Amino acid sequence: MTVYLVGAGPGDPGLLTARALELIATGDVIVYDRLIPDSALDRARTDAELVYAGKEGGGQSMPQAEIERLLIEHGGAGRTVVRLKGGDPFVFGRGGEEAEALIQAGIPFEVIPGVTAGVAASAYAGIPVTHRDLASAVAFVTGHEDPAKPSDALDWRALAVFPGTLVVYMGVRRLGAIAQRLIASGRQRTEPAAVVERGTLPGQRVVTGTLATIAAVASEAGIRAPAIAVFGAVAGLREQLQWFERRPLVGVTVAVTRARAQASALAGRLRALGAAVVEAPAIRIVPLDGAVPDLSRYDLVCLTSPNGVRLLFERLASAGMDTRALAGARVAAIGPGTATALRTHGIRADVVPERFVAEGLVEALVDVPVKRALLARAGEARDVLPDALRARGAEVDVVALYETVAEPLGEAELEAVGRADYVTFTSSSTVRFFFERAGGALQASPRLVSIGPVTSDALRARGLEPDVEASRHDIEGLVQALVADAAAR
Ligand code: SAH
Repeated sequence: MTVYLVGAGPGDPGLLTARALELIATGDVIVYDRLIPDSALDRARTDAELVYAGKEGGGQSMPQAEIERLLIEHGGAGRTVVRLKGGDPFVFGRGGEEAEALIQAGIPFEVIPGVTAGVAASAYAGIPVTHRDLASAVAFVTGHEDPAKPSDALDWRALAVFPGTLVVYMGVRRLGAIAQRLIASGRQRTEPAAVVERGTLPGQRVVTGTLATIAAVASEAGIRAPAIAVFGAVAGLREQLQWFERRPLVGVTVAVTRARAQASALAGRLRALGAAVVEAPAIRIVPLDGAVPDLSRYDLVCLTSPNGVRLLFERLASAGMDTRALAGARVAAIGPGTATALRTHGIRADVVPERFVAEGLVEALVDVPVKRALLARAGEARDVLPDALRARGAEVDVVALYETVAEPLGEAELEAVGRADYVTFTSSSTVRFFFERAGGALQASPRLVSIGPVTSDALRARGLEPDVEASRHDIEGLVQALVADAAAR
């Protein structure tokens, strides 16, 4: 019943606001533009109506009147409408006009500001739009108007003497005319200038020069929309302050083979460090059916993966039980990921080994008295832990919670992995199923990254030597090892 005019930020999905995500997840109708982050609609309701209102490859966009009519029609019919726009809805976004149309039609609306491109793309280029010593004001200017036309709404003479930074939106095609006009109106030819193309996105490009040279530099580099231009002393700070291009994995492509459901944390971490990520899940986790174990019979319960934790609690829940079922037992986790998964259920693991492999857990349990232990884990797993506990005289039961099966990889995914700089393996099952599918196709051109000794052995069993092995056997350890290897090359 309300129309929300929502800013989606400049492109990096991390710059969508919490409020924007909340509204996207609840909207009945989402009317969206072209320049919104790719993943912005991922969390929309599956039954939400998604209406595209942007330009198709330079073609005609939906006329503004038609957009306004749609908002009024859906809002008037009592639906929750999310009008999703790139950047901020009230900065060169025609949000003001849409709000006016809604008022006229008597439809309630709210505005959710977004991170505007002029600020965000500048920041990602290492350019602060204001600076205590260099710029006490900033002006957002549209470059859409033709500075040569007498009908031009902008007062270029006033802009030329504006005492601060000028940020020009939509001005790539007219960059030369704009710069000339500013110089002719008295702005310094030598003033630092920068153009940021696809700011905040993985393909961000930045060119720098002076007001006099920037148009030639940008056209030489083939800079295209969407891009913003920044004129002012602050543009000169980029040389020192650029950070986006200096992230450790910029220019590096990394393939992730773990299950799709688990890949996002690793992929997200790699992307945040600047890597391009190829998601090529080689395995899938399939929950197994089975009885709910009577946990009160054990003095030790061992969990060996976050999947195991999740599925153990799902099984307990299916029998109307909860965390209290574990109240009487010591709980051991094989590593920090498993311990974190336990914490989400309110359980602090009593034992977490220093080495995140079964052997490490055996060592960590040496001084822990055990009579009856339960191991909750994958159907197919090594017997190191149960064997060691039995050798100590404990009774050990194993409950198989899930099975790891092959996820069929397509030709295109395999080729993309082949072109990657690194391919990561986070378990021996990722190695096994990946190479069962890939065969010799990989020819070892990407560097092979292993999470630990067990996974490395699985590679060696296929005649492949891992190029990188994490010394901490969890996701963060794997990322650190990869970063160190990339830095050394
Ligand atoms: N409402 C939007 C602006 C829409 S006008 C906002 O607040 O950001 C479209 C213009 O925004 C583009 O022509 C370009 O100048 C700028 N723009 C949008 N996304 C951009 C990006 N990722 N990098 C650089 N400029 C961008």
